[in-house]
Amino acid sequence: RDGAEQFTFQAEVNRLMDILINSLYSNKDIFLRELISNAADALDKIRFLSLTDKSILGEGDAANLEIKLWLDSESKTLYIRDRGIGMTKDDLIKNLGTIAKSGTSAFLESMQKGGDMNLIGQFGVGFYSVYLVADYVEVISKHNDDKQYIWASTADGSFTISEDTENEDLGRGTLIKIQLKEEAQEYATEAKLKELVQHYSEFINFPIYLQSEKEVEVPVEEETEEAKETEEAKETEDAEEADEDKDEEGAEDDEEEAKEEVEKPKATRKEKRKDWELLNDNKAIWLRKPSEVTEEEYQKFYKAVSKDYTDALSYSHFRAEGDVEFRTILYIPSFSPFDFYDKYYEKAQNGLKLYVRRVFISDDMKELIPRYLSFVKGIVDSDTLPLNVSREMLQQEAALKTIKKKLVRKVLDMIRKMSETEVKCKAMEEKGETEDKPSEKDCGQYGKFWEQFGRAVKLGIIEDSTNRNRLAKLLRFTTSKSGDKLTTLDEYIGRMKEGQKSIYYLAGTSKEEVANSPFLEQLLRKDYEVIFFTDVLDEYVMGHLMDYDDKKFSNASKEDLKLADKDEVEKKKDKEVKEEFKDLTKWWKKVVDDTKLQAVKVSNRLSTTPCVVVTGKYGNSANMERIMRAQAF
Ligand code: ADP
Ligand code: MG
Repeated sequence: RDGAEQFTFQAEVNRLMDILINSLYSNKDIFLRELISNAADALDKIRFLSLTDKSILGEGDAANLEIKLWLDSESKTLYIRDRGIGMTKDDLIKNLGTIAKSGTSAFLESMQKGGDMNLIGQFGVGFYSVYLVADYVEVISKHNDDKQYIWASTADGSFTISEDTENEDLGRGTLIKIQLKEEAQEYATEAKLKELVQHYSEFINFPIYLQSEKEVEVPVEEETEEAKETEEAKETEDAEEADEDKDEEGAEDDEEEAKEEVEKPKATRKEKRKDWELLNDNKAIWLRKPSEVTEEEYQKFYKAVSKDYTDALSYSHFRAEGDVEFRTILYIPSFSPFDFYDKYYEKAQNGLKLYVRRVFISDDMKELIPRYLSFVKGIVDSDTLPLNVSREMLQQEAALKTIKKKLVRKVLDMIRKMSETEVKCKAMEEKGETEDKPSEKDCGQYGKFWEQFGRAVKLGIIEDSTNRNRLAKLLRFTTSKSGDKLTTLDEYIGRMKEGQKSIYYLAGTSKEEVANSPFLEQLLRKDYEVIFFTDVLDEYVMGHLMDYDDKKFSNASKEDLKLADKDEVEKKKDKEVKEEFKDLTKWWKKVVDDTKLQAVKVSNRLSTTPCVVVTGKYGNSANMERIMRAQAF
């Protein structure tokens, strides 16, 4: 472009774009979902700002918070325009190319491993998906704080920025011009666009209009020269006033004509006209009664709010009443966010959107849900919170605490139900019962949850003392008796031997290592069940849990391991053996550096291995030491 400044894409962004533009990926449809989702985000932002300053919206058309799509079939160009917050020149440079988001390389990596392109939005690089269908894109944007600029790129490693002197004045917002590739001509039809919007963006909370050709009835008498002239005059008048575009005018005219028609029926003829058609029903789904929303609608709404493309694992729609009123739809995704555990302490997930009286406020309210449950997605719409305050002030609101408490309860309830169903299914299978057995899908739900979010449950036990017990019920372990299956603490307790007071566990790096540990011998010989801790988090979890259902946890590798069923004969024998080996234990103490060794004892915890090194009652276990060394805690 003449007189344009040229910029090079950040290296990873460039790699990503290169892959996209050359991609033969078959589901290119996703680009439209991503662009509409960006438009909706931009609209949310300006609507939020307008809460404290109404004038921000501007006047006339600029105040219409809507998304419009249209096609130029001749040049195979698709246009998407929103009246959102827009981007300044600086925003365009930063957001679209020079700064790689943390998700960029993670997305590239996931694609290399055969991950789905469909995930692109979750990695925060959805915009670039436009290059699945385009070989040239212009982003024309107007932010209240800057002039109107054009960002343009053919995905050849660079982009240009120039002040816009050629396009219509946007007032405010963003217009994206998409020059469709040869292989993407299917998107150059209105029918296809309509299908996509209805499929992917039905629950976007702003109206989405598509300009499409429709057959309309036109009264024959109207077509006099005089009538045409007045119509044109009216159009220019309105255009000056509100800066609307022509086709929108057409829509209004049709309405007027239709009205007249009712008054006095006239002869009509059919005519093809371009008209704005509303594609989505942008009513808030959470305001409806749960009984009136179908499973399919919930899952569609989930995809609209979550950037996920797979169905949610479970959801809960409810209305809280009392001092603090709100409505919410909460979803547990089928998969954990790609950086949920990696970035656990650095970055909270922002899947929960807070609305106040139908207006989006923020998706970054850490006060809304604890970190360990931040994988939960959905919306919370409160009538109690004040609308006209800043985000910072909102964070101080006491009502947020109440909302948080209720949300946590509901989420834990959802998880508990899945967990109980699984336990029930397992018990029925063991007994060979089939009557009233939950469906295969319901039986398998918790297994899927545990695989993705088991560690979140464990983190919850460490971080959320109020719900520790509830969370402990959700734990799953393998044990010396569980085989390939996982077991719960309650099931373990149900199998405890008579007189057994503790829940025994042993930690290590793998199931094999723990199962073959000499520490186990005595316990296994006496037929005690031992829980295998093979996740690095497990011992921390026990450190916080201490006991469960009045039973202490007992580490099989610690010194004070006491087995329940020692009788008098055994105790007497212990004493005799201790005497017998006294010289040996003294000698051991002498030869080993005694700053490293606390004591040498005769023990009957082993059966075939001659000796083991154990940790003291109050020391860290060997496994814990290994973890702490590795993590430098
Ligand atoms: P994400 O939406 O996850 O942030 P994208 O790649 O889709 O990632 O978009 C990158 C950024 O570009 C957005 O965060 C936003 O700041 C900006 N952006 C994209 N589209 C628009 C738009 N229509 N209006 C305003 N800003 C936009
Ligand atoms: Mg996006």
